Amino acid sequence: MDNLIFKEKIFVTRPLLPPLEEYQLKLKQIWENKWLTNYGPFEHEFQSNLKKLFDAENVELFANGHTSLDLAIKSLDLDGEVITTPFTFASTTQAIIGNNLKPVFADVEREYYNLNPENIESLITEKTSAIIPVHVFGNPCEVKKIEKIAKKYDLKVIYDAAHAFGVKIDNESIVNFGDISMLSFHATKVFNTIEGGALIFKDKELSNKLKALKNFGITPDKEEVRYLGKNGKMNEFEAAMGLCNLNKIDDIFYQRSLIYNRYLECLEDLEDSGDLKLIHPQNNVFYNYAYFTIKLNSIEERDFLYGKLAEYNVFARKYFYPPCNEFPAYDFDRNTPIAKDISNTILSLPLYIGLSLDDVNQISKIIKIELKNFKNL
Ligand SMILES: *Cc1c(COP(=O)(O)O)cnc(C)c1O
Repeated sequence: MDNLIFKEKIFVTRPLLPPLEEYQLKLKQIWENKWLTNYGPFEHEFQSNLKKLFDAENVELFANGHTSLDLAIKSLDLDGEVITTPFTFASTTQAIIGNNLKPVFADVEREYYNLNPENIESLITEKTSAIIPVHVFGNPCEVKKIEKIAKKYDLKVIYDAAHAFGVKIDNESIVNFGDISMLSFHATKVFNTIEGGALIFKDKELSNKLKALKNFGITPDKEEVRYLGKNGKMNEFEAAMGLCNLNKIDDIFYQRSLIYNRYLECLEDLEDSGDLKLIHPQNNVFYNYAYFTIKLNSIEERDFLYGKLAEYNVFARKYFYPPCNEFPAYDFDRNTPIAKDISNTILSLPLYIGLSLDDVNQISKIIKIELKNFKNL
């Protein structure tokens, strides 16, 4: 074991930083402009670059992903019930509850751990106003099926696409599905602006409303306060970071794909023997390699491996655990056994630019040894 212990701690992620000189050039411009926030030149440039990247008409930027999602829900004036997934980060569920809506949890599918469209229709009632699915770990939901159900019952669809920056399905940006898609640019995500978020949406009419909602409800012409808004603007330092990181986006995906595919190679035999399940990106998907997760066979095995990895200085994450319908503060319906099983057995492994392929070999070797040890307990 000793020779497999990492000398330094390996965390599940490490933030992507541009070359310091590149960011300093941007800082110099900020010092010259003296424009720090509120629709500055960098925000504007970043916004138009994202429109090009996604081939999208409408993009608005925000202080963070959670505020984006919160204001997306507000902008559509939803009420009653929202069908969503329990297998997500706390943010998705909290944005729903925070808008006085009742989250109704539909169970997920076993391949990509996304909301299963087959489970939606039976949960629709007269009170249902929207569906809020999540592209978990960056793997696209079954968007066509969800669209069909939404049309049939006249429901809005907001995608939590926090993990799905740059992902395409059949060559179409994933953020162009649904009425609105939300992206997070948090430091831990594939692409970051330190903190930040965006909404990509179809209805042009929403632009001014979203601009107002992120600025205390003040309309863009500054003539009135029309909505109960928030302070949710992206500042120039964040937009500048976004511009620098955007320059390297293709290389980011490429570097991450090497790490992801090495994990797949190293762990495939464990999958063949039924010891764990991996996620294989779909053929018609351009994937961003946001997370590498393994699903074990029991919670005991997952927790054992999690603890053992830490002894080797590898800090994996139980992501997402527990499922959001088990928050102690709420008495939610917990009847989503697949989500519970995945949550109990999932483990996210380190994946970031700077993690070497040798590191991946070593982590994989540790996993093999310790899973064998678990069986012999
Ligand atoms: C990160 C994340 C969010 C929240 O984004 P922030 O930018 O951190 O506010 C929402 N949903 C999911 C699934 C996330 O992973």
